[in-house]
Amino acid sequence: MEIRRKLTYQFSATVAVLLFLSFLAIYLSFSESRKAEFIDRLKSKAKLVGQMLIDIEEIDVELLRKIEQNNPLNLSNEKVIIYDDWNRQLFVNFADTSISITTYFMNQVRARGEWRYVQHPYEIYGLQYSGPKGRIFVFVAATDIFGRKKLTMLGNILLFVFVVSLAFVFIAGRFFANQALNPIEGIIARVDEIGISNLDARVEEGNGKDEIAKLAITFNNMLQRLDSSFRIQKTFIANASHELRNPLTAITGQLEVMLMTPRSAEEYRNTLKSVHEDIVSINQMANNLLLLAQTSLDSASHNFVRIRIDDILWHTVNEMKVKYSDYQININFSTNIDDEENLMIMGNEQLMRIVFVNLLENAYKYSDKKKVSILVDQQSDQLSIGFADEGYGIADDEINLVFNPFYRARQVVHRKGHGIGLSLVENIVTLHQGYVSVNSRLNVGSTFTIHLPVHQSPGSLANS
Ligand code: ADP
Repeated sequence: MEIRRKLTYQFSATVAVLLFLSFLAIYLSFSESRKAEFIDRLKSKAKLVGQMLIDIEEIDVELLRKIEQNNPLNLSNEKVIIYDDWNRQLFVNFADTSISITTYFMNQVRARGEWRYVQHPYEIYGLQYSGPKGRIFVFVAATDIFGRKKLTMLGNILLFVFVVSLAFVFIAGRFFANQALNPIEGIIARVDEIGISNLDARVEEGNGKDEIAKLAITFNNMLQRLDSSFRIQKTFIANASHELRNPLTAITGQLEVMLMTPRSAEEYRNTLKSVHEDIVSINQMANNLLLLAQTSLDSASHNFVRIRIDDILWHTVNEMKVKYSDYQININFSTNIDDEENLMIMGNEQLMRIVFVNLLENAYKYSDKKKVSILVDQQSDQLSIGFADEGYGIADDEINLVFNPFYRARQVVHRKGHGIGLSLVENIVTLHQGYVSVNSRLNVGSTFTIHLPVHQSPGSLANS
């Protein structure tokens, strides 16, 4: 069922129950008070008749009959029967059999002094009256025509108000439900129009405060994230194809020139060497792109085991020293590290090696001194490894951009590179639940530090 219909029905049903109960209470209390009031009148009448017959010497049954016949204050359809103490009828002012006083009724009056009951359309009241002339039982019956009419009228009015109010509540409920839910229709229609080609479109946010507005705002935020990640992807693809196209164009150009006329063996060799370099560069970039894609996934897809970080670092440093013979690399361990357990992390050795290679390559590439100082430190359960060079540094406005794929700082564009290394470093370190920080001053040097959580062995945790 539609929400608007459900809301209307629920609202109307609640009001209907509430109205019904209150109207019923009004009707019943009015009916009770009418009954009590009429019984009071019957009681007064019974008392008066009893008094006249018992207390006043001069009045006997005959006189009472005459008084009663012409009494203008008689109740409608009023009937009076009087019995003496031996259940003999002393007085009756009607000839029909519409009223009968049962033995039960009589016994109740004898036992309790008074009693009443309803014999439709009559209400009968019985009273035991004692005086100097003895004891009598007076029964007065009458019909409360006026009171009953008023009760019926009240019933009709309440029923009318009930039906009209319910109709009004139903219409009002539908109106408010429509008003509250119409914006959702708008949102649905708008969302239906949004596709890949117009991810920059947004849904109407209404007053910005109510729940529907919050839904719209949340949806717009999601669209914003989708839009920006879609843009990033587009730029990424554009950058990647640009980076691949450059060396491919260079290769094609060189080969075309070579094929124009016959060349010497030396020229062929030189061209092949250059083509080979370009192909190596393309290959390296393709590998890095693949790695970048793989490390964007969660850590579950990489085999993480307990590894000792300094082992990997030493290994990579040695490789670097072989590759770049003029590279000066100093490794220092902070005095905080007094236990090899503090050098253990949960991770993937291959990936950590890629991190170190990239940071060491950069420190070498972007400095003329070809020198790097590595500091391994540990604070509480965080391990940090900083790579400090005295190189070209990075301008303040570019520091946060160097981690973006394909971004290369202004002052190094003449150096070879694709701008993927740091993105890869950041991805890998994030996969290891860590983060990378950078400190750099132009023409002074840069320090790239990776922070990783130490992985204590289950045994040492239990001992601590
Ligand atoms: P690449 O080195 O291939 O350009 P990276 O992603 O490794 O790609 O680096 C991105 C950019 O960050 C570099 O182009 C350079 O501008 C800057 N950068 C990285 N490391 C250093 C460093 N140690 N010193 C100065 N700039 C650096």
